[in-house]
Amino acid sequence: MFDVGIIGCGPAGIFTALEILKERPKCKIIMFDKGNNINIRNCPKSKIGRCIHCKPCNISCGFGGAGAFSDGKLTLSKDVGGYLEEYIGEEKLNEYIEYVDKTYINYGGDSHIEFDAQFANEMAQKCEKNNLKFIKCPIRHLGTEKCALIMRDMYEKLMNYENVEIKHNTEIQDVNFKEKEIYTDKNIYKCHNIVLAVGRSGSSWLEKICQQNNLKIINNKVDIGVRVELPRKITDPITDHLYEFKVYNYSKSTQNIVRTFCMSPGGFVTQENYDNDLACVNGHSFKDKKSDLTNFALLVSAHFTEPFNEPTKYGEYIAKLSNMLTGGKVMVQRLCDLKIAKRSTKEKMKELSFEPTLSDAEPGDLSFALPARILNAIIETFEALESICPGISGKDTILYGIEVKFYSARLKVNNNLETEINNIYAIGDGAGITRGLLQASISGVIAAKDILTKIKE
Ligand SMILES: Cc1cc2nc3c(=O)[nH]c(=O)nc-3n(C[C@H](O)[C@H](O)[C@H](O)COP(=O)(O)OP(=O)(O)OC[C@H]3O[C@@H](n4cnc5c(N)ncnc54)[C@H](O)[C@@H]3O)c2cc1C
Repeated sequence: MFDVGIIGCGPAGIFTALEILKERPKCKIIMFDKGNNINIRNCPKSKIGRCIHCKPCNISCGFGGAGAFSDGKLTLSKDVGGYLEEYIGEEKLNEYIEYVDKTYINYGGDSHIEFDAQFANEMAQKCEKNNLKFIKCPIRHLGTEKCALIMRDMYEKLMNYENVEIKHNTEIQDVNFKEKEIYTDKNIYKCHNIVLAVGRSGSSWLEKICQQNNLKIINNKVDIGVRVELPRKITDPITDHLYEFKVYNYSKSTQNIVRTFCMSPGGFVTQENYDNDLACVNGHSFKDKKSDLTNFALLVSAHFTEPFNEPTKYGEYIAKLSNMLTGGKVMVQRLCDLKIAKRSTKEKMKELSFEPTLSDAEPGDLSFALPARILNAIIETFEALESICPGISGKDTILYGIEVKFYSARLKVNNNLETEINNIYAIGDGAGITRGLLQASISGVIAAKDILTKIKE
């Protein structure tokens, strides 16, 4: 019998445990993760040059979760990375942002914040004049390599408690919500409180067990788009002051919102593999090792209404279409070719002034995969972005496809992130409540505070 059982050792699960132990160091906690221990987690692609489809994926699963090898950008704004404001309000959220940010610094995070307030105000004015919406967002960039070290230190901290057990390579099969029991393929663990913190990689499983237990869930959205790469000197005049610029464009021709996302100055584009060998694209940047390029995503939000309720399948279908045209690889196209409806070829790619960082992407024609409204909204947004970042749609701009941001089904929870069933909490990205490192970590703190009111000394 445990006081708390935590399923998923990503930032959400880790911060739940750390926060509880801070006040109740004797609390009996058991944590489960289907992936590896952080000390042996390792993506073989960096050594052998290709993805060998580890099961589960070492990039997204294991202690540290998807956060361990992420870009490690802490987005210090209530408007980014999740929906926690809806549950705890603006004031409390700002308080927790400061609190969790400090915790990351205490574990070795860079104390420098990438943000120039005066420059941000000027950018906001410039954007407004050009019908763009600018989101002010200070960033603490931990960097991919430092992020893993921070997770390692958190692991050591937890392992120092005799009353904490961490079970790796242990996939939870089922949860008996009524009896508060957690099932692996071999054992049953009884817990007073259960925290479901399974992240994106566990969201389908979570959706299934919630449906079995008649818990309410909503899922009607997916973001589809491309990863843009271009010479860093074009974005430097902005990214030197802000690290990244978050801009929203309301497309006049399609009425879709298009947003810039996850900007990585000096970064690298990566392939992200999903189930059934689906190859999508993403980007990240190291703290020290830098390229001469900047990459960022341009994403179009697609909302669906009845009778359609499978946005994840829709996003996968579009990405699959792109994979079909490239023999299963990520597709790449020059923006100038896309604009004149021409396929990019290996010869045309040689005209670029740089080597793309995702070297095995296959040149092709994104217009054969992306629906017209998404394509048009993206091209229109490039024109709008020229007004704040001249050169962004030049001949050296390339687009990788497809980047898809799946939204986990959102679970109905109260303001303490407790589900409709007492003592069962659902937090982090897997519950559809957060979409980034910082808010995922904060969601753990929120659940922990409530659990603390229920645990006896
Ligand atoms: C390449 C990349 C770059 C990113 N860069 C950034 C960034 O710069 N800034 C930012 O804010 N966010 C970034 N993110 C997103 C960030 O990593 C996530 O938002 C965050 O990790 C979510 O935390 P979480 O704890 O909710 O879930 P996760 O980190 O996904 O952790 C969930 C854990 O649950 C485990 N699990 C799932 N199902 C089960 C099961 N049935 N049984 C046992 N264990 C299970 C998984 O193995 C996983 O370890 C990035 C993500 C990726 C992939």
